[in-house]
Amino acid sequence: MLKITKFGGSSVADSTQFKKVKNIIESDPSRRFVIVSAAGKRDPKDNKITDLLYLCHAHVEYHVDYLPLFKMIEKRFLDIKEELSLDTDIEGEFAEMESSLPKLSLDELASRGEYFTARLMADFLGFPFVDAKDVIEIRYDGSFDYEKTSENLKRILSDNDRFVMPGFYGRTPDGRIKVMTRGGSDISGSILARCLKADVYENWTDVSGFLVADPRIVKNPKNIEKITYSELRELSYMGASVLHEDAIFPIRKFNIPIHILNTNRPEDQGTIILDSIEEDKNGPIITGIAGKKDFTAVEIYKKHMSNDVGIVRKTLSVFEKYKVSIEHIPSGIDSFSIVVRSKDVSENIYDIVSEIKEAIHTDHIHVADGIALIATVGRNMMSRPGTSGRLFAALGNSGINIRMIAQGSDEINIIVGVENKDFERAISIIYDNFMKEEA
Ligand code: ASP
Repeated sequence: MLKITKFGGSSVADSTQFKKVKNIIESDPSRRFVIVSAAGKRDPKDNKITDLLYLCHAHVEYHVDYLPLFKMIEKRFLDIKEELSLDTDIEGEFAEMESSLPKLSLDELASRGEYFTARLMADFLGFPFVDAKDVIEIRYDGSFDYEKTSENLKRILSDNDRFVMPGFYGRTPDGRIKVMTRGGSDISGSILARCLKADVYENWTDVSGFLVADPRIVKNPKNIEKITYSELRELSYMGASVLHEDAIFPIRKFNIPIHILNTNRPEDQGTIILDSIEEDKNGPIITGIAGKKDFTAVEIYKKHMSNDVGIVRKTLSVFEKYKVSIEHIPSGIDSFSIVVRSKDVSENIYDIVSEIKEAIHTDHIHVADGIALIATVGRNMMSRPGTSGRLFAALGNSGINIRMIAQGSDEINIIVGVENKDFERAISIIYDNFMKEEA
């Protein structure tokens, strides 16, 4: 059994968190490859090291004194070192970095959070430290070179059967450090899981996996035990985010499970994410509910529209011109709506409407603001007729007006648009209707 274990920023925020990580690693001998994010927030008002490093770079760029900030970053690491009585000479490295700071690239500087966290973690666990710049190969276009990364790992593994590696960065073909997008350590873990053919990729964070609904809306929602990558994508898009979306791609076709676990409550079951899950006829119909407020529907009406070729294209090209991305296009025979995020059109809505009127020769355009979209997601919906009927009836019987309906062609997601004011109540009703009965 081989497990890749990745710990997020809050799991390595201070020496107390480091001790929790050590307990987790030592409780299972298959946890031999550890990836860490940079030390994160210790409390809600604290700062993430990575944010401070970016800020430090901005100070350098704008010729503002960066030293106090730099010292603050250094102190976070020195505190961990001292509290855990570690030997690693990070003071020497910080002194060197301080003198060369104005010459460091943004990526190099931003990567130091993960680097120092991993150095200290390796020392604390008694594991070798392996630098991500000697492992993760990133092409100039930003894609990952799995072949070269696997070769690097092979070389490293001939001397080591375990290690700690910083997440979030790798190197380009010319040997420069390149960081990934924010939260990228999740991707580093996933790359390692793929290249080392891991049995499971454990992603340790500060929540016990995914919940069926937002706990701020539904009281004590159930935990999602298992979820497919596609379901997760639908839910994440609607706002439920624990894992970097791109972490799925390196391992998707190998169906390596990602197990989301809580460093602060390691005994909790967590959530397992898989590419495919065998159908469970007795399993829950729905996997999760998520949603977002503040959408605008531009409702377009025109007589005999269905015979008018190119009308949707002409309309969409107006949105394209204003660089507005489209969320949904529910349609009827002589009408269709374009649903977009309100903030994306707030400045230009009058211009957009008048340009559409001109492009498709209609005066019947209505703009409806304050729409919330709610996605009810579940891989088991496909095989259970009547799911959407049940959902609409539950909302209808509670007096909630459904403004629009959309369903993706893979039939794992039913999206309803309701008024913003009905958002929370609609989610509770859907939850109660589908989950309470299954208890
Ligand atoms: N430390 C980086 C960030 O804050 C990457 C990560 O945490 O995964 O985005």
